Amino acid sequence: MVDIKQNVSLQPFNSLAIPSVAAHFVELAQEQELPDIIAYSRARQLGLRVLGGGSNLVLADRVEACVVRNVLLGRALVDEDLDTVILEVAAGENWHELVAWSIAQGWSGLENLALIPGTVGAAPVQNIGAYGVEIADALVSVRAFDLQREDMRTLSNGQCLFEYRNSLFKSAENRYLICSMRLKLHKTFSPMLDYGPLQALKSKIGLRAEDVFDQVVAIRQAKLPDPKRIPNAGSFFKNPVVTGAVFQRLQRQFPDLVFFVVGSGYKLAAGWLIDKADLRGQFGAGGVGCYSEQALVLINPERASSSDVIAWSDRVQQRVEQLFGLALEVEPRFWT
Ligand code: FAD
Ligand code: NAP
Repeated sequence: MVDIKQNVSLQPFNSLAIPSVAAHFVELAQEQELPDIIAYSRARQLGLRVLGGGSNLVLADRVEACVVRNVLLGRALVDEDLDTVILEVAAGENWHELVAWSIAQGWSGLENLALIPGTVGAAPVQNIGAYGVEIADALVSVRAFDLQREDMRTLSNGQCLFEYRNSLFKSAENRYLICSMRLKLHKTFSPMLDYGPLQALKSKIGLRAEDVFDQVVAIRQAKLPDPKRIPNAGSFFKNPVVTGAVFQRLQRQFPDLVFFVVGSGYKLAAGWLIDKADLRGQFGAGGVGCYSEQALVLINPERASSSDVIAWSDRVQQRVEQLFGLALEVEPRFWT
């Protein structure tokens, strides 16, 4: 029998430390428990919400749903050839531990994605990315329970509809419960060092994936607030990608505008826009504000409610809109 509890605090389970209560809460440790959880929810006309590490969530005071915390564990080597390995990894595994373990086995591909909080199962949802690499680059397929069709499906990389910090699982929110995935990693290391903080490694003789991993960990520890000490959800807004005409207007107005060419568009650094709007190190109601070392990270040091987090997020969006005429899109998912 699955142990479904009522009125469970979600504050320990979200990295913004928002005080929130789940009306119904269960930990999914075995896939065989799913039918019972679904039957319980259907009988009470409850929606299902899948919770991983809670590092990309803004929670309402009360979540009127059955919150399923994914703790499915397991990693296995399922195939290999001379150059590559295929791993099958359960969704409840910790992402950073998977990265560290894969590097220790001599398999590269995930080193730029070190120290991203959360679970393996959430990684495809927003197609996690850092330092020029995305999970889409390594992902072969996802095994997910389709809550609409009520069957297990295997979705290929192409079927996941990956885009910049986006996927099918984000657009069809709450439809799929990701149980495991297959990743393809490499036995021969080919580094991705385009991002500024990694470029110094280009001249290192005998560069190994471990070196990139260590460098990424060091930069992130120096720059990003540890959610255990200063609650946050990482980058709160996506970097906007604008057309050439918008870019030229902005560059005339702000010659020091930070941008990167992506395809036919221009990606602007949202952190720079917020900084320019004089919001870095500024705080609003409940002590919610923009982190002094990286304005893109909203912090919640006093563990205030979601209404304070949302009020500050609205204020940032309004200021950026006023100054640049740009609508910033929120990155974390909101559970209302
Ligand atoms: P949760 O927050 O628990 O869930 C996020 C969403 O995914 C929810 O909609 C949830 O329902 C859904 N979900 C979770 N698990 C499943 C599942 N098994 N099946 C279906 N849906 C599921 N993100 C980046 O992309 N790059 C970064 O560099 C990065 N750095 C970060 C740094 C910090 C300090 C923090 C706090 C966050 C950072 N993030 C980053 C954001 C976050 O860590 C990632 O989005 C991560 O993948 C979220 O994982 P989670 O398990 O915590 O997901
Ligand atoms: P940063 O190095 O200060 O760079 C600022 C922004 O510029 C980043 O958002 C990044 O875009 C972009 N950028 C920098 N160099 C680039 C290049 N060579 N080509 C294209 N775009 C470039 O960023 P940071 O805040 O310290 O973060 C470092 C990396 O970790 C970034 O990739 C960032 O996405 C990731 N990160 C993500 C989160 C999250 O919650 N999503 C939180 C922390 C860090 P991209 O964001 O598109 O890479």
